[in-house]
Amino acid sequence: MANIVAIVGRPNVGKSTFFNRLIEKKKAIMDNEPGVTRDRHYGYAEWIGKYFTVIDTGGYVVGSDDIFESAIREQVVEALEEASVILFMVDCGEGVTPWDRDFANVVRSVNKPVLLVANKADNTERIFAANEFYELGLGEHMFPISSNSGSGTGELLDEVVKHFEEDGDEDPGKDIPRIAILGRPNVGKSSFLNMLVGKDRTIVTNVAGTTRDAIDTRYTLFNKDFILTDTAGIRKKAKVKEDIEFFSVLRSIQALQDSDVSIVMIDATLGLEAQDMSIINLAHKYKKGIMIMVNKWDLVEKDEKTADKFTKAMIEKLGDMAYVPIIFTSVVTKKRIFQAIELAMEIHENRIKKVPTSKLNDIMLKEIEKFPPPSVKSKIINIKYITQLPTKTPSFAFFCSNPQYIKESYQRYLINKLRGHFGFTGSPITLFFRQK
Ligand code: GDP
Ligand code: GDP
Repeated sequence: MANIVAIVGRPNVGKSTFFNRLIEKKKAIMDNEPGVTRDRHYGYAEWIGKYFTVIDTGGYVVGSDDIFESAIREQVVEALEEASVILFMVDCGEGVTPWDRDFANVVRSVNKPVLLVANKADNTERIFAANEFYELGLGEHMFPISSNSGSGTGELLDEVVKHFEEDGDEDPGKDIPRIAILGRPNVGKSSFLNMLVGKDRTIVTNVAGTTRDAIDTRYTLFNKDFILTDTAGIRKKAKVKEDIEFFSVLRSIQALQDSDVSIVMIDATLGLEAQDMSIINLAHKYKKGIMIMVNKWDLVEKDEKTADKFTKAMIEKLGDMAYVPIIFTSVVTKKRIFQAIELAMEIHENRIKKVPTSKLNDIMLKEIEKFPPPSVKSKIINIKYITQLPTKTPSFAFFCSNPQYIKESYQRYLINKLRGHFGFTGSPITLFFRQK
């Protein structure tokens, strides 16, 4: 079992602040409104050479009429069961509240080491005030910390790592492709995810970093391991506010940046709209694998030419990004759902593919000979040698004379030839021209 630390506690005690401090990355979205940081988030952290997964469980609201309550409670219990150590967080500034007592009971029901963390112990007065939490009866150890300043966190982490049985992996998820599902509200993102969850029970659950929430879900399908990031959850679960809309856009961009492949989902009845184009542009700019999933295909009246017509119209809009593969799906009738995932994996494999230099030169130099770069101002451009760079995404260096005179149209020719011969399905290709 890998090392897993779960942070639990009622809303607003500072769980996500502490979580972010641990993973040093603003992954959880912060907001003072209870209920916004409800989804389980995970990240990787390190302390004195021990590596662990941190789960931020979000708050769960006891005794409210919140319809999400039972689902949230379930998630919290699930996180606790996965954990090696539980950090039960309370707020020194507020003292013991009924919610804390209720929560302490839940935590106690799970047979795991629990450390009581009294957060917001920003000054001496608060540190003394923390003593009242001993009444919760959660062991003799309490750790006053300040997530804002970081004070006390070292002592806490020293204790946390004592409970680990192993050193842990530096990043257990580093080789697993991350697929982000992006798209406007209502296109079917959550339905798609729910279908995948419902359909296949081989989902990895008891592995480090695995969560079953709407944000990051790790799957094993067709013997392939991948992590899906869904951006639908936040908007759905939070009470709709302008802020939430803003945060969900922010979160989409973040999910895109963190991903290897972006699935841009659109509604077949609406087509490719400006906002979709912005996402695709952004994915292209960040050199992510990209595909378009035209969902709700069941709602389109069609004959055998409809898909072609749709594709043509989209390719026209896509311009330089016409390489983006398009798949027509229906979550409702389960049409091409698994093919969509297979396509995403294919894109990932193409994105990390390396073409051997000899093969690259054999094939591409012939194409260049057939159609050499046009000379500019009587400057001859002579491409001598090509190599794929050891970068994360397909990039090629062309060594030539007068590289500054290579035209954009010629770059497009080279990219088309590279795609024609070697694939690179759904991946942006970057070219460099260097003096030789
Ligand atoms: P969560 O709902 O438990 O995840 O709580 P958040 O991390 O969203 O924090 C709730 C509020 O407490 C935010 O306004 C934080 O800035 C604040 N907060 C978090 N940690 C500290 C701390 O150590 N000291 C003080 N004074 N405020 C804190
Ligand atoms: P999200 O906001 O992108 O997560 O979208 P949802 O998954 O919540 O779906 C929005 C609505 O579209 C729901 O009523 C779904 O049942 C419906 N929906 C999702 N996929 C399809 C589909 O393939 N065909 C049809 N007809 N409806 C769909």
